[in-house]
Amino acid sequence: MKELKCLKDFKPNPGDIYSPEEMQRINIAMLAERGVTVNDIAQLAYGAQSKYIDGLTLEEMTESVLNVLSKRDQFHAILLAINVDMAAEQGLLMEPLQSILIHDLGLFGLDECIAVGIAGNYGQIGVTNYGYLDVSKPGKINILQRDKKHCHCFLDDIVGALAAVSAIRVAQHHAINDIVNEKAKATEAK
Ligand code: MG
Repeated sequence: MKELKCLKDFKPNPGDIYSPEEMQRINIAMLAERGVTVNDIAQLAYGAQSKYIDGLTLEEMTESVLNVLSKRDQFHAILLAINVDMAAEQGLLMEPLQSILIHDLGLFGLDECIAVGIAGNYGQIGVTNYGYLDVSKPGKINILQRDKKHCHCFLDDIVGALAAVSAIRVAQHHAINDIVNEKAKATEAK
């Protein structure tokens, strides 16, 4: 199978365990070679969450995306998605799966299953957020879906799920900070 340039000569670690820094670096490099940047995911996450959080910045969302990209479940999902998409692109799969993936059949739901699996990592609300992005298909998700030169059957959903969990992570941090600030104010007022 034709490989991504960033994985050429890659030597697997003994035990197949990678540090958060290694996973983040590999994730970013693989996604970039498939046309997805950290900023693309941060923009999707920001678009999903900015109406709910006053003063939310793209920088804060970018930090959240980078954190999410250092986690093992996301690493495995990205590896699987890109490998399957590229195998389909190169005609390496057996029929009828080969055609189903190349045509991105709407009734094929296993791409969504993998995405839902990681979308729920920060609470069930991540699944709702992913569902919204999957239906509305903003930004890079739409670009991936319309790309006729490549197969992004799995990757478009993974990108949606990464944006969903990045957004929920930020929302949870803001909710906790709000409670801490309110308690601090109440203590000051006493
Ligand atoms: Mg898909």
